[in-house]
Amino acid sequence: MSRLAKPSIAAAALCLIFPLVPVVPEFWVTLMNYIGLAALVAMGLVMLTGVGGMTSFGQAAFAGFAAYATAVLSTAYDVSPWINLLIGLALSGGVALAIGCITVRLSGHYLPLGTMAWGISFYYLFGNLQVLGAHDGITGIPPLTISGHALTQGRSYYYVIWGFVLAAVVLSENLLDSRVGRAIRALRAGSVAAEAHGVNTARTKLVVFVYAALLASLSGWLYAHLQRSVNPTAFGLHAGMEYLFMAVLGGAGNVLGAVLGAAITMILKDQLQNILPRLLGTQGNFEIVVFGLCLVALLQTTREGLWPFIARFGPARPDKVISPHAAALGARSMPEKGARLLQVRDVYKNFGGLIAVNNVSFDVRAGEVVGLIGPNGAGKSTTFNLVTGLATLSGGEVTWLGERIGGKSARQISRRGIARTFQHVKLIPDMTVLENVALGAHLRGRAGVLRGMLRLDRSEEARLLREAARQLERVGLGDHMHRPAGSLALGQLRIVEIARALCLDPVLLLLDEPAAGLRHLEKQFLSRLLCRLRDEGMAVLLVEHDMDFVMGLTDKLVVLDFGQIIATGTPDEVRSDPKVLEAYLGGVA
Ligand code: ADP
Ligand code: MG
Repeated sequence: MSRLAKPSIAAAALCLIFPLVPVVPEFWVTLMNYIGLAALVAMGLVMLTGVGGMTSFGQAAFAGFAAYATAVLSTAYDVSPWINLLIGLALSGGVALAIGCITVRLSGHYLPLGTMAWGISFYYLFGNLQVLGAHDGITGIPPLTISGHALTQGRSYYYVIWGFVLAAVVLSENLLDSRVGRAIRALRAGSVAAEAHGVNTARTKLVVFVYAALLASLSGWLYAHLQRSVNPTAFGLHAGMEYLFMAVLGGAGNVLGAVLGAAITMILKDQLQNILPRLLGTQGNFEIVVFGLCLVALLQTTREGLWPFIARFGPARPDKVISPHAAALGARSMPEKGARLLQVRDVYKNFGGLIAVNNVSFDVRAGEVVGLIGPNGAGKSTTFNLVTGLATLSGGEVTWLGERIGGKSARQISRRGIARTFQHVKLIPDMTVLENVALGAHLRGRAGVLRGMLRLDRSEEARLLREAARQLERVGLGDHMHRPAGSLALGQLRIVEIARALCLDPVLLLLDEPAAGLRHLEKQFLSRLLCRLRDEGMAVLLVEHDMDFVMGLTDKLVVLDFGQIIATGTPDEVRSDPKVLEAYLGGVA
């Protein structure tokens, strides 16, 4: 909020005085009203597309549901517009939930195509239902009233629209700056890392989808009572594309960018509609062509949109404050040292004709560092994926403290205290190191969407961030916590992933090539860290190619080659095993 305080106050002050100045022409007030309406829809798209990575062309349809709901209910049944707002939100939210359940699972190009499909469908539905006035729509919608005063003037309606816009900006910013917000921001980097840290990505996608639909329906409701009539044109695919254009133009990842994008688009559209027909000597929606060209140019040059340019002149985003007084998070009780934690039994995995893991069995005990070694392609990472639920078993069984976990989801497995890092680092580059790490503590917090939006999650959030900071100090990266993750070297990013995994309060830590890209001193530091973790009772399963690192650290080695175990034992036993020497160490030596 503090980052937004100054611009918000300035914007609010401008909003307050603007329509009171009598010399401001009615036209500008009207334009500002429509900018506010568009900004609400675009803001939802910023959350959905820019932050969450899900492109939607069909957002205008959600505005349509609320607009038609209030149009029908207030003209035919005399229901108060304010009650209609709640009904409209419930209706759009319900439809979004139903559509979202089907469409957010779609990946790649199928999601945008899906949104186009329902965008078109609803347009024709609105236009063909007689009860909705078919293509002529519904007229005679009453104005909004506030304590008996009818808001028939654009100048008074202005305050209602921009009041809602301001509220939406604050609530959206709050949401993004919360536990759920971190999960939303993590979606863009794919679901694997988030799921492995306990985030329900399908549910998180649905949350953003419904949130965006609710903002759109708020806009639709306001639109109906401003315009006092509705017809399908405003809610079709054409409108949906314009909203998407606004979100991308303004800065697809920033809430205030939506307001900027809406303002520029609406002003540009108005001017183009005047100028282009005069230039071309004929009438038509030529502005859409110009928008299309602008969009292509924008995506070629600045994918981040215009907001980052503007934000550069504003105050820098202050670093997150780590409260030293925030209570420590509750910790899991560690199993007794030597207790059998993980049992991998005859685990088998094939990708078509390729057998990646072939009847592999081994155990990991509490307080033990086990090394899983073998040449490239031996099946080490696949074994990790099978243990952590990121790949499904083709055969065999994985047991955790006596419970079968083979076939459970990554999320369910992470809850049991199994955390991991990835051979190919999976962090969100434009999020700070601290927040990337805090994602690891997702399961240790409880705050949901509403608490986040209303800032009722602050004490819990302080505890989560303190834990993230503590783990970063522990792995020796405390000095880098406020930097964007993308600015760190690859070796450091691997260590950031270890801090993130430690935030889960794990019993078993799986590290996939953690020392790759580290310098000698950094490796020594990491080695000491892992020894400390082991002494605290944690178990570590380690894939690593640096043999000095592995031999000095591990209690037991499992050697894989072509998916099969060729040797197990202490480092000394394995070192002298002829099969190992031939398949693996011989090559290295
Ligand atoms: P390692 O980590 O030991 O280098 P991997 O477990 O990554 O090896 O891979 C083992 C084998 O399985 C390799 O031949 C690899 O090409 C194959 N493999 C891994 N993942 C997949 C996948 N998702 N689809 C098809 N083949 C895969
Ligand atoms: Mg690997």
